[in-house]
Parts: sequence; C-alpha cells; structure tokens
Amino acid sequence: MSIAENYQRIADRVAAAAVRSGRRPEDVTLVAVTKTHGAAEINEAVAAGATVVGENRVQEILEKYQDVAPVTWHLIGHLQTNKVKSVIDKVAMIQSVDSMHLAREIEKRAANAGLVMDILIEINSAMEETKSGIAGSELFELARGIADECGHIWIRGIMCIPPLSEDPEEARPYFREAAGLFRQLQELGLPADRAVIDTLSMGMSGDFEVAIEEGSTMVRVGSSIFGPRNYR
Ligand SMILES: *Cc1c(COP(=O)(O)O)cnc(C)c1O
Repeated sequence: MSIAENYQRIADRVAAAAVRSGRRPEDVTLVAVTKTHGAAEINEAVAAGATVVGENRVQEILEKYQDVAPVTWHLIGHLQTNKVKSVIDKVAMIQSVDSMHLAREIEKRAANAGLVMDILIEINSAMEETKSGIAGSELFELARGIADECGHIWIRGIMCIPPLSEDPEEARPYFREAAGLFRQLQELGLPADRAVIDTLSMGMSGDFEVAIEEGSTMVRVGSSIFGPRNYR
C-alpha cells in the first residue's frame, strides 16, 4: 500500500476510535511521525491530508524543512539545549520538555524570536532508563516552575511513551495513569495566560486505538504510515 493509502487508513481508524470513546473525530490529532523518512515521502502524506508531522531529531528537521510542503512541525524527541535555537522558529510544539533547564532555554530563545512556544511535558511512564521524560510525581512541580518563570512558553499538556510491547493492552494502564495526571494538571490552576491544558499526546502505531480509548487527544504514528524505518 502507498503512503497516501496508509495515511488515510490510519486517519479513519483514529476517527473511529475517537467516536468509540465518545468524542468527535476532530478531537484527536494525528501526528505523522517522519523520522528517517525523506521529504518526498513526507510530501506524500501531506498530500493525503497530514497536517502535523513529528520529528525526533533537530538535525532531521533542518535537513528536510525546505523540501517539505507547508505543514505544522512538532519536535517529539529528546532536545538538547544547544539545539533549541535552531528549531525555535520551525516547530509549533515541543512535546519533549523534561527539565527546568530545557524550559529556560526555550524561554530565552522564544523571547528572542518574539514568539510563544507550545510545549508538552514528557512523562516517562515506567521510568525506563533508555527514555527521557520525568516521573509522574514530578509533573506538577515542573509545570508550576515553567508557568512561574516562562512568559514565552504556553503549557498545553503532557506526552507519554509507555514501555514497548507486542500487546497494546499492556500499555493501557500506563495510558490510564497518564490520563489521570492530565486531568490533575487541568485542575492545578495554572495561570490562564501561561497554560491551557488541552493536549494529551499518547499512542503510537501499535497502540493508538487503546490510547484514544483512554483519552488521548493526539497520537503519533510513524511506521504504520511510512513503513519500517531505515536508520542510517
Ligand atoms: C518514533 C516515535 C513514534 C512513532 O512510532 P511508530 O511505532 O513508528 O508509530 C511516536 N512517538 C515518538 C516519541 C517516537 O520517537
């Protein structure tokens, strides 16, 4: 199947899962995850209707940016502070904020660029060493800290990646836990000019339907759209 057909099929499944969970199709955003795939492939997805693409590495965004049709870019992978400057005016959202140190750098670069950056705080659901992200227990302190200090950051919610598993049902408890944190974050009373908590980014190729059933508002799907990744 072509990338366009894959995209359409996944978009239909996302919409059906949204309706199944009592929401509207447009309440769940499909982010097409494009890491390791070239501009031509990304443009096929954009032509098929993709409006948001997610990249893990700053370098890949910079390499492809010029050649990809107009689309909204999200950074979804670990971000080093020294790379913030080069993506600050290219991405609409940084989904992988996991420290005050990184938030301060985003604040500085966003202020310099005269913009306000949307962010998600990344939760490392099972505290796996190979993944970035913070523990759920650290979420509220970090969110408060960012809201206190960073006038050029707009906190939108959380992103989580549960441990990889063959069986999507194994991810369900992690998704449920993240949904609980998300609701608590909504009730935290962060200042309205610093945060609007409307985005719960969870669910990938193998488990996005389960994630939507548990309340995801944004799924990040790569291999089911573009096929296997070819790491260089
Ligand atoms: C690669 C990646 C995805 C997409 O994974 P697939 O299993 O290919 O759908 C989603 N989120 C993040 C953070 C990723 O790095």
